[in-house]
Amino acid sequence: MRPSLESYPHLAGGKVRELYAVDDEHLLLVATDRISAFDHVLSTPIPDKGRVLTAMSFFYFDLLGGNNHLAGPPDDPRIPDAVLGRAMVVRRLAMIPVECVVRGYLTGSGLTEYRRSGSVCGIDLPAGLVESAKLDDPIFTPTTKAPVGAHDAAMEFAAVSDLLGPELAFRLREDSIDLYFRAAAYAEQRGVILADTKFEFGRDESGELVLADEVLTPDSSRYWPAAEYTPGTVQSSFDKQYVRNWLTGPDSGWDRDSGTPPPALPDAVVAATRARYIDAYERISDRRFADWARPAA
Ligand code: ATP
Ligand code: MG
Repeated sequence: MRPSLESYPHLAGGKVRELYAVDDEHLLLVATDRISAFDHVLSTPIPDKGRVLTAMSFFYFDLLGGNNHLAGPPDDPRIPDAVLGRAMVVRRLAMIPVECVVRGYLTGSGLTEYRRSGSVCGIDLPAGLVESAKLDDPIFTPTTKAPVGAHDAAMEFAAVSDLLGPELAFRLREDSIDLYFRAAAYAEQRGVILADTKFEFGRDESGELVLADEVLTPDSSRYWPAAEYTPGTVQSSFDKQYVRNWLTGPDSGWDRDSGTPPPALPDAVVAATRARYIDAYERISDRRFADWARPAA
């Protein structure tokens, strides 16, 4: 008999994930089917999104190897049936209060900062880079870990070094860039560009640095179909493009700048988005999503 989810104390809820305590040393990280767009959590969930993202995290933890926080397999007996396939039992760590962002391409907030200052997080970049340009070398552009509801703020490397000490700061930068390189090289072989991503690290009881959180999911990363890559234009996002297009198109009746929450998504947009997530997982992992863990009932 698997434990019920209600038997675990609920510790925290983010925009799309929920965190529970399994025991003093272990946490249950649950991915829901919630989706966010334009900084809003939408009222319409995408069925199976939580399972797809969890499958991707497990896949990449396995691919990357090294010291990570996984404490059991996808069907660990400590996982309640209701969340099978979208939960991970992990070692409870002391989290490092910096989000380790790596960018191989220039877009989003990185591009905004570059256009204003010619640099990103204090890293000077060559002049004339266009939207979605590939950078000669991936750059480490960390952010603060903002409290719930607040935005993460960009940090210069010197600020990370002041906060955590130079030794840990160098280590985070090196490890993050190395992980990005390996994941991006892998994804490229599968026809997908990993434009940027975010890692989180923690320390275990012996002080070892451990890769934590979700890794290389579409929620923590920008994935672009390589075949459609066109520098100078905004790339279509692998996962949320249908959602964004519909929300900003004429049919939604929604004004992005109005401050009002977005309307519910039509079934066709939900179905197309769900298919996109599954396609991304199957493309990248070369596995069938139909084989992934799911609730028995
Ligand atoms: P959001 O990402 O929605 O803006 P959030 O970061 O507060 O908000 P989540 O990402 O859903 O919320 O929550 C996961 C939390 O669990 C994060 O604070 C993350 O740092 C933390 N976490 C991840 N892995 C571990 C771990 N092994 N031990 C302790 N905390 C962890
Ligand atoms: Mg988070």
